[in-house]
Amino acid sequence: MLNETEEKSAGEAMSEIITGRGMLIVVSSPSGGGKGTLIRRVLKTVPNLGYSVSFTTRRARAGEIDGRDYFFVSEDKFKEMAEAGAFLEYARVHGNLYGTSHAQVERELAEGRDIILEIDVQGAESVRHLVRDAVSVFILPPSFDTLRERLEGRGSERPNDLALRLKNSRGEVERYREFQYVIINDDAEAASSQLASVIYAERARRERQEEAAQRVLATFKEENAI
Ligand code: 5GP
Repeated sequence: MLNETEEKSAGEAMSEIITGRGMLIVVSSPSGGGKGTLIRRVLKTVPNLGYSVSFTTRRARAGEIDGRDYFFVSEDKFKEMAEAGAFLEYARVHGNLYGTSHAQVERELAEGRDIILEIDVQGAESVRHLVRDAVSVFILPPSFDTLRERLEGRGSERPNDLALRLKNSRGEVERYREFQYVIINDDAEAASSQLASVIYAERARRERQEEAAQRVLATFKEENAI
């Protein structure tokens, strides 16, 4: 994890960027919870939305593409990047390291896009501390059995890793309480429209509309009357 000083300065930097700009949307779920599918759907339907491609030391699965799904790096490279402050947050999850690129998030926000961070519960906790107005969403599978079936059906993990992910899921689901929104992913279409609704509703929050509202109000001033 970041040390206290790094966390503070990263947090200050982020708050500055966030003001009046895009928002961070943190999405967490246990492995196999289906958040990847939901996020892919939402990225297709909701305009002006970016996705933070994380760095990881995990090996690429069949079909995963470097730079699209993750940036796959060695442990040494990851640690070097962490030392250099390249990550907004990072954590060890199911035995591998995963981190969110600071530069990438800043770039997306600077371009005025909201950005989805698909990260674990530890990462979500770090981001909540760093970015006051981050939006957090927890995706719950409908049941433990469904989670197991989904993970087994995916066939992407070796038996040991699959067992570890299932075991860790018990602790992860307990932490849904730390999130602002909870979506039960029973049906991918319904769940992805709920996620899109959360994003639209958060965009419409008064606090996020101050600047736009002020611009409209300026047109109502008497001195503008004809
Ligand atoms: P997977 O190996 O299944 O792709 O991901 C394992 C877990 O790591 C998932 O819970 C995923 O959300 C999380 N994860 C992916 N990227 C990051 C990241 O940048 N930071 C953190 N903290 N977790 C991540």
